[in-house]
Amino acid sequence: MTDPSGRVVVVTGGSRGLGAGIVQSYLDSGDRVATCARTRTDQVDKWANDPALEGRFLFREVDLANREQSTDFVKDVIGAWDVIDILVNNAGVARDGILSLASDDDIDIVIDLNLKGTLHMCRVVGRRMLSRGSGSIVNISSIVGLSGYRGLAVYSSTKAAMDGMTRALARELGSRGITVNSVAPGYLRTEMSHGLDEGQLQQIIRRTPAGRLGEPSDIARIVQFLTAPENDYITGQVIVADGGLTA
Ligand code: NAP
Repeated sequence: MTDPSGRVVVVTGGSRGLGAGIVQSYLDSGDRVATCARTRTDQVDKWANDPALEGRFLFREVDLANREQSTDFVKDVIGAWDVIDILVNNAGVARDGILSLASDDDIDIVIDLNLKGTLHMCRVVGRRMLSRGSGSIVNISSIVGLSGYRGLAVYSSTKAAMDGMTRALARELGSRGITVNSVAPGYLRTEMSHGLDEGQLQQIIRRTPAGRLGEPSDIARIVQFLTAPENDYITGQVIVADGGLTA
C-alpha cells in the first residue's frame, strides 16, 4: 500500500493521541501525510525515519495559534506535494475549571488554537481546494459542544463553534466539490483525558453503553469514511462517536 500517487492529507496535531491515530490510518492507506505540533515526539521520529515512508511523511514544528507559522506550514506542504486533498483539523487544547475562576490566558489559549487556529487553517487550505474544485475537510469537535459539561465552558464554546463553522463552510464550499464535516468524539484514551482520575474514568465507562473509552482508531475510521471520494454526498454534518454516552 505505498502508492506514491496517494492523496495529500494534512492532519494538525498528529504528534500523539488522536492525531497520531489519524496520521497512521492515512499512512496505512498509502497516502502522503503532513502533520504539525509544537514539539516533536518519538512517534514523529519513527515515521520520519521509516524508509518505507520516504517521501510520504512530513512534519513541522508549528504553533497553530500563530497564523504566520500555520500559513508557512501549508506553503511547505504545497511546496512538497503541490496540492492538499484532505484537511483534518485535530489539534486542540482544553483547560478545565469553572468559568468564574478562569484567567484571561485560560480563555485565550483555548480560543486561539481551537477556534481561531481552525478557522485560519480552513481559510488557507480552503483557498487551495477552491482553486482545484475538490477537497475534504474534517473538524474534530467534541460531544461537549453538543451537551453541557461542568468546568468546560471555554472549551465547549470552541467545539460548538467548530460545528457551526462546519455547517457554514459546507454551504460555502459545497458547490465547488468540497465536503466539510465534524466528528464529535466522546472520551478518548489520550493525554487529554489524563487529567481525569480513575474514579471519574470508571464513572464515564459505566455511563457509556459501549462500556469503554474511545480509541483513536475508532475516530480515525470515521474520518477516513468522511473523506473517501465515494462518500461525498455527506457534508455539513456532525458525526457523534461516543459509544452511546449522549444517547
Ligand atoms: P492530545 O493528546 O493533547 O494531542 C493534541 C495534539 O495537538 C498534540 O499533537 C499537540 O502537540 C497538538 N497541539 C496542541 N496545541 C498545539 C498548538 N498550539 N499548535 C500546534 N499543535 C498543537 O489531545 P487528543 O486527545 O489527541 O485530542 C485531539 C483532538 O480531539 C482535540 O481537538 C480534542 O479537543 C479532541 N477531543 C479529544 C477528546 C478526548 O477525550 N481526548 C474527546 C473529544 C474531542 P503539542 O502539544 O506538542 O503542540
